[in-house]
Amino acid sequence: NKFEQLGLNAEIVNAVSDMGFEAPSDVQEKAIPILLQEETDLVALAQTGTGKTAAFGFPLLQKINADSKHTQGLILSPTRELCLQITNEIQNYAKYIKGLKTVAIYGGSSISDQARAIKKGAQVIVATPGRMKDMVSRGMIDISKIDYCILDEADEMLNMGFYEDITDILSHTPKDKKTWLFSATMPKEVSTIAKKFMNNPVEITV
Ligand code: AMP
Repeated sequence: NKFEQLGLNAEIVNAVSDMGFEAPSDVQEKAIPILLQEETDLVALAQTGTGKTAAFGFPLLQKINADSKHTQGLILSPTRELCLQITNEIQNYAKYIKGLKTVAIYGGSSISDQARAIKKGAQVIVATPGRMKDMVSRGMIDISKIDYCILDEADEMLNMGFYEDITDILSHTPKDKKTWLFSATMPKEVSTIAKKFMNNPVEITV
């Protein structure tokens, strides 16, 4: 099995088989071994539709400790639609990982419902920057112990004016977390974020 050869464990490989994925995509082949083997920051230049959700989702899920309830991974994405789509994908990938919980946080929906879901414990949070910043600053979400932060479609998030929300959110995360940035393009604003908030990221292009 080609996913097994990338270093993925049985829980994930079985979920991948259920989804009917036959072989890893280009970005998956490049990113997954690096993210599994090295504790490193990563900058990946990849378009949507290339399978990038699994490229960061599989390693994230494999590295998380599902026996512990605290939030360990945060994925930031530009829109509510993408946020829900990523959440759905991650939940499918995680179906055989016992105790693993993924919660979506986004604007335009009840903040108290979302706060309640978080209170029950979520190892993975997938969020849009505005609502996330709001809930973190109100003390509703604790991201002070996360291990991994993923910035998905970083160029889009910056285009939409989320720079300050993102930097505010990052300021509540530990210094030693790892950051994985995915972007379809690499404008100056994105490389500025990478320079300011990341340490010697490995770079991949697909
Ligand atoms: P993404 O680029 O992450 O939005 O993924 C695009 C679509 O491709 C999603 O519907 C995924 O479920 C699907 N996908 C991701 N990886 C693979 C794969 N290795 N083989 C087949 N389909 C995949």
